[in-house]
Amino acid sequence: MNDDTVVGATIHFSGIVQGVGFRPTVYRIAKRYGLKGHVKNTDIGVFIEVEGKRSSINNFYHNIINNPPELAEITDSSIDFHEPLNFKSFVIIDSEDGTGFSPIAPDIATCNDCLQDIFDKSDRRYHYPFTNCTNCGPRFTITKAIPYDRKNTTMSGFIMCEQCQREYDSPDDRRYHAQPNACGLCGPHVNLYSRGGSEISGDPIAGCIELLNSGKIVAIKGIGGYHLACDPTNHEAVLKLRKRKRRPGKPFALMVKNLEIAKKYCYVNEIEGELLLSPERPIVLVPKRVLQQSISPMVAPDTNFLGLMLPYTPLHHIILEEITHQERGGILVMTSANFSEEPLFFRDKDASEGLHNIADAFLVHDREIERPCDDSVIRVVENTIIPVRRSRGYVPRGIAIGISNHNVFSAGASEKNTFCVFRDQKAYVSHYIGDLVNEPSIDAYTRGIDDFIDIFRINPEVVACDLHPDYHSTIYAEELAKRWGVTIYRIQHHYAHIASVLAEYGIEGPVIGIAFDGTGYGEDGNIWGGEFLVADGKEYERVGHYAYVPMPGGERSIIEIDRMAISYLLMAYGDSAHIPDFPFIDNKEAERLTIFEKILEKHINSPLTSSCGRLFDAVSALIGLCSTPTYDAQGAILLEREAGDFDSSLAPYQYSIDKDNRIHFDQMIREIVNDKIQGIQNGIIAGRFHMTIITSAVELCERIRNNTGIGAVSLSGGVFQNRIVFKGLFHKLMERGFSTKINTLLPPNDGCISLGQGLVALNRLKEGIKTINR
Ligand code: ZN
Ligand code: ZN
Ligand code: FE
Repeated sequence: MNDDTVVGATIHFSGIVQGVGFRPTVYRIAKRYGLKGHVKNTDIGVFIEVEGKRSSINNFYHNIINNPPELAEITDSSIDFHEPLNFKSFVIIDSEDGTGFSPIAPDIATCNDCLQDIFDKSDRRYHYPFTNCTNCGPRFTITKAIPYDRKNTTMSGFIMCEQCQREYDSPDDRRYHAQPNACGLCGPHVNLYSRGGSEISGDPIAGCIELLNSGKIVAIKGIGGYHLACDPTNHEAVLKLRKRKRRPGKPFALMVKNLEIAKKYCYVNEIEGELLLSPERPIVLVPKRVLQQSISPMVAPDTNFLGLMLPYTPLHHIILEEITHQERGGILVMTSANFSEEPLFFRDKDASEGLHNIADAFLVHDREIERPCDDSVIRVVENTIIPVRRSRGYVPRGIAIGISNHNVFSAGASEKNTFCVFRDQKAYVSHYIGDLVNEPSIDAYTRGIDDFIDIFRINPEVVACDLHPDYHSTIYAEELAKRWGVTIYRIQHHYAHIASVLAEYGIEGPVIGIAFDGTGYGEDGNIWGGEFLVADGKEYERVGHYAYVPMPGGERSIIEIDRMAISYLLMAYGDSAHIPDFPFIDNKEAERLTIFEKILEKHINSPLTSSCGRLFDAVSALIGLCSTPTYDAQGAILLEREAGDFDSSLAPYQYSIDKDNRIHFDQMIREIVNDKIQGIQNGIIAGRFHMTIITSAVELCERIRNNTGIGAVSLSGGVFQNRIVFKGLFHKLMERGFSTKINTLLPPNDGCISLGQGLVALNRLKEGIKTINR
């Protein structure tokens, strides 16, 4: 057949191909190649009938694949040639209202075209804070139901003006079927309110900036919830925010106007720069410039890193632009508006009530947020992207998991919770829910699940949850399994960690899994967290772990970490009489030591733990860095800062690995005490401690490889937020010929647990394992 012959073709695309300007792109490309036919959305994607020269159709097809709209993600496509059907022109056919499923796209930062509109004085959208187009703007946070159509979003109440409607209807326009399309005439508006709730007259954005410049705290409604903003160069303002938010030390995120300003305050490498500019616009943790002095040290008192993000809505862009005009340097504190451990405020009424003792004013708008979505947080270590929190910009993008089409729901962990639904060989991990330790969080959790089951049209065939019987996520999973009449799989926490890495990379295993973590319920009823597993997608075996130590008072020793120091001291010296005098002991009331000795002797409420996180806590307390953390992992964060960077020339402390592959740190503890007595600097001690963690893990991996022949290592667990541990382990394992993988789509902390649980459930479901309980 000649390439000039006129033929017909049927073309299919699936993936994120709806609500992202796919059909108009197809339309424009069809026109360019002089093709006739039509394009329409279907239940499963985009369907095209075309006819024209065979060569043109081929070019057309590949042009779409190579140049899809910015937000589209084609996962599958097909083309079938047939006889021409004699179309007259090329047209876009309106959505079919099917019962099928096409995933919603994430919220995407304002695109450059829209930015131009916003800052062009002659444009009708000049300084309009809700400007968007098919390439940018809110999606996930405004969608009430699928299919993604204006009537199913929180924009349904805004009737488009004539000009907006014309854009919306015109296939040649960038705003063709842009569901949140709006302008100053017809769309949402911002208003500024005082703390008492009365409207502040004048231009709301100018008023907001004036308040910020005078050291006030303003709650600003964004895309996925409220932020609390203040001037980071105003020390008093930052202190005031800390005091009012009752958040003494946990770092605040900053929004900077552009990459140039980011580089003024921090060292930003190429990968970090790309992340900052990416349409997902995460917060990126980057090292502070040593000499920058203008930002209050109280923005991030415990670390040498700052969390920076670039503006991602027109409102942010306008505010940051104007702040620069005031010579303030185009930078703002933009921290999530919540109480510690509680979810983000995203509804106006909740925010005005909940934040009224924190914010001096509220910059709000009348586009409802359908569901909350926190800013995502990422750090880059050794050119590896390691998320700290995966939420806005990434959620609900699917993660491809081969295996099977089964529908699975997985409940996640208790801390830094996400849950996950699986369908069509994809995992849809939820937005960041948080710690399920209070009513509002548990509420957000159950609401979020109902919502995902609905918008993803899930009919779960099995439920997966943690092994911990008391987690709220476990209890709710049991309730759901009963309601749906399906089997429940209880997956051990650290196995789920390692399985999440297998899922991300599509690795079958077996691998050596190192899970270094705070806590997780073990098969033996103890609290695990310094674990060496051999695992594949279906099963695992615990092949080594940190030696158990008691946690005096159980959970209390997570809040008072000097308890762990005392526990490790007693373990290393046998009893309190043998512990030498050193600063930690001198500063303790002798009473406290004897009390814990008694508690431990009598085994009163002292569960055993192999947790790596607890060892970091113990050492942090032992050398006087932290005894009662005010936020999660503060002890470990201070220890990491003290150690500086990974220094391969530092010698590890002594440790031992017994015949059952248990790592004992008694000698290390005694050496650290001796170092303290001799007045060795904390920086050296912290560095050698990190080296001990790294060296002992590598040695145990080699032993496991000798026994099993497995040379692939997967790393997961909250401790891998520590860049020294990851960097050191990564290098040392590579030197010894191991191939090493870590979570990079999801955080290695408990945000990845739901993915791992689901992977194991899918595999077991496929194998027909119905009742296994681990
Ligand atoms: Zn745009
Ligand atoms: Zn309009
Ligand atoms: Fe964990």
